[in-house]
Amino acid sequence: MNIHEYQAKALLKTFGAPVAEGVAIFSADEAEAAAKSLPGPLYVVKSQIHAGGRGKGKFKELGPDAKGGVRLAFSIDEAKAHAKEMMGNTLVTAQTGEAGKQVNRLYIEDGADIARELYCSLLVDRSVGRVAFVVSTEGGMDIEAVAHDTPEKIHTIAIDPEAGVTAADVAAISKALELSGAAAEDAKSLFPLLYKAFNEKDMALLEVNPLIVMKNDHLRVLDAKMSFDGNAIFRHDDVKALRDETEEDAKEIEASKWDLAYVALDGNIGCMVNGAGLAMATMDIIKLYGKEPANFCDVGGGAGKEKVAAAFKIITADPKVEGILVNIFGGIMKCDVIAEGVVAAVQEVGLKVPLVVRLEGTNVELGKKILNESGLAITAADDLDDAAKKIVAAIKG
Ligand code: GDP
Ligand code: MG
Repeated sequence: MNIHEYQAKALLKTFGAPVAEGVAIFSADEAEAAAKSLPGPLYVVKSQIHAGGRGKGKFKELGPDAKGGVRLAFSIDEAKAHAKEMMGNTLVTAQTGEAGKQVNRLYIEDGADIARELYCSLLVDRSVGRVAFVVSTEGGMDIEAVAHDTPEKIHTIAIDPEAGVTAADVAAISKALELSGAAAEDAKSLFPLLYKAFNEKDMALLEVNPLIVMKNDHLRVLDAKMSFDGNAIFRHDDVKALRDETEEDAKEIEASKWDLAYVALDGNIGCMVNGAGLAMATMDIIKLYGKEPANFCDVGGGAGKEKVAAAFKIITADPKVEGILVNIFGGIMKCDVIAEGVVAAVQEVGLKVPLVVRLEGTNVELGKKILNESGLAITAADDLDDAAKKIVAAIKG
């Protein structure tokens, strides 16, 4: 789960991180009061969307010559004018895809005088099984290009979970970022507190780009992107409350309501499965036969007919889906329940693409009977191999 920059900054502030004063607004009318509450004379008006690259982004409605999604303002009137121009329009950045994202929230922040823009992120480095800092002196808006063209400018410092962020770690990070004076002093508290926030809130990613050295030589978190481990969200009601559903895939929201694990992918075969292992095996075998899954929806163990029908509807709602493979091993989940759910969903939403069903396990004969007697154009498969071959053949025409 992701949150907005202004929410991430507020959260980091509770851990003691240096962030600017700022006010989030939901309508352009609020811009004046927001700017007036800040010290000035420099303001920054920032589009709040769950995507990066906002500074270099372009608003669809405003044409190529208009300013981007992060704008400096040198007066309250200018901040108001920017807010009016940005709010409600669609920002297209390198991360949003062509469709862009509508800007429904703005963050008006006290502007900083920047001396240097650095890059700092924390992530779970699976290769060493530790949380690691990834830092670079080349922060700002082009970190992807730095990683690609000059990877030697990116430094990774993995943290020992027993020891936490030690003085030696801080020194290593500070050296990599070429910090000295007041900035190096600030670093002693900043890096440990970022690590603490990352761990305590079960983050998957914390990216501060840029982390700035200001003209007064102090550090400040100028941008913050935060993602949380979805499996740990239940432990953090405060984080859950920050969810902005308008930023999320409608199908994933629907799936989470039914407690279904739904993952959107890039191919064109929709998959309904039970259990993560079977999901992976199903995707592998589809690939083996030369196609790619469009998604998978894991209905889990004890699903009822309604849940199966909901899963089926979510899968078919994806316009990329050209064929569906239902692959269920009925253990706790019974095959007849799956069959009833599939039939109910097809009767409700119709079946516009080929459907192959492979059932095995408890009540398999009854399940097959329900499918056969439904009068629907369902192709039955005997085993996993047969099922994959059949769905791939069906969508090849
Ligand atoms: P992103 O483009 O989505 O990553 O948005 P950022 O929050 O990183 O802002 C983009 C750029 O705007 C930064 O790299 C800075 O160069 C500039 N910027 C943002 N805030 C300020 C500020 O307070 N003062 C100045 N001078 N520039 C800023
Ligand atoms: Mg940024």
